[in-house]
Formats: sequence, structure tokens, C-alpha cells
Amino acid sequence: MGRTMSFYDVRDALTQPGCAVCRLKTDSADRFLDSLLWESVNDPEMRHEIRQAQGFCHEHAWGLIRNGASLGVAIIMRDVLQSVLNSMEDAQFQALPSLSLRRARESLAPGQPAAATAELVAQLSPQAKCPACAQAEKMETIYLSTLLDHLLGEEGLLAAYESSDGLCLPHFRQALTCVHDEEVFEALVNAQRAIWEQLLGHLSEAIRKSDYRFRDEPRGEESGAWLRAITALVGTRLGQDRG
Ligand SMILES: [Zn+2]
Ligand SMILES: [Zn+2]
Repeated sequence: MGRTMSFYDVRDALTQPGCAVCRLKTDSADRFLDSLLWESVNDPEMRHEIRQAQGFCHEHAWGLIRNGASLGVAIIMRDVLQSVLNSMEDAQFQALPSLSLRRARESLAPGQPAAATAELVAQLSPQAKCPACAQAEKMETIYLSTLLDHLLGEEGLLAAYESSDGLCLPHFRQALTCVHDEEVFEALVNAQRAIWEQLLGHLSEAIRKSDYRFRDEPRGEESGAWLRAITALVGTRLGQDRG
């Protein structure tokens, strides 16, 4: 199988701390926002997509903050805010007749969304996924299948994978859903198991050394295991400096 850019991306990411796919996914979103800000702020199709999504998710909207971005962000946000205001133009409280069944039901279940405002609520809801999330998820799938396709064989990624921090649990699950080959399955599961067993050992060691009797022992590989364990179970912290 030919080596693609994504192969080298995965191989490089496996030499870095944390889950390689989390890292590559975050980088993809970051690159997307960069190219949006520096190249396609005025691209009509992109602007339409952004309006449909009502801008970006919380993480990626705040991720727009970078040096020199203020004009681009102002242009994008003006567009989105204008479209939000347009949706509110004909906003009406759609009062239900006082004897209606629906109204009776609503008064019985006060936690339910109010029918009178439902239309406006729908108009103020995004009609599409955050474009940066969409791009990041597309790349995430590509990177995971690259890892699996190139795991075995000569100069495969297995050795790099074995000496990495492994995939986080969510990405490990996602990878498993794409495995159709028993050899790949065995290699993946065994490597991941060895990585997590080692992490488990580091956690135990950190806990042992926290005991006053062993407190003076020098710190070793176990330091930072508590943070690596969080990463292992939920993935890399979003927006965290992962250096
Ligand atoms: Zn991950
Ligand atoms: Zn997003």
C-alpha cells in the first residue's frame, strides 16, 4: 500500500505524548481555522456553511483567537449575527388557545419545551455541524484507517504504536469498529493492552511512593501518570498545550 501524507502524519504523531489521533484531530481543526482565517474568509460557499452552523462550536469559536485574526473573525461573526437577527425578525409568541389540549398538557408538564416559542427556538438552532468539527472528524477517520491499514508489514506502524502512549479509550473503540482483519485486531489489542498495563503499573508506583515511608525515593517514570491516565480514558484535553 502506498505511503500517503497521512501515513507520515500518523508516524510522527506516534512519537509525541498522548493519543496520536487526538493530536492529529486537534491539529486538523487548527489548520482548518488557520486556512479559513487567512484564505477563505470571503469565500461565499464557506460563509454559507458557517451561517448554517451558526458559527462554530464553543471550542472552535474560541479557537479562532490568534494573532492577526480580529478582522477575519469580525467579518465572520457579523455575518452569523446578522443571520441570527434575520431569524428573529418575525418572531412571534404563538399563543395556544386557552382550551387547547396542548396547553393543558403543557401546564401538566412544566419542564417540557413551550410550544409557543418552539418555532423561534428551531430557527435559532444550528442547521449544520460546526465546520471545524466536521473537518476534524473527517480527518480523524482518515488517520484511524491509515493507522490500521499500515499497522502491520515491513516498516509498518506497529513498532511506533507500541512505543507510543497508545490510543485513548474513545479512539481505541473507534479503531476497533473499523477492524476487519484478525491479525490487525490481535496486534492492536495486544499493543494497547501492554501500554495500559504499563500505565497501570506507573499509577500503582505513584500511589506507593505517596506513602510517607517511601516519599524520599526519587521520582521515576511514574511521575505524571495521573495525567496520562486521564488522557488514556477520555482523550487529550481540548485546547491544552500538548507540548
Ligand atoms: Zn484519542
Ligand atoms: Zn467545532
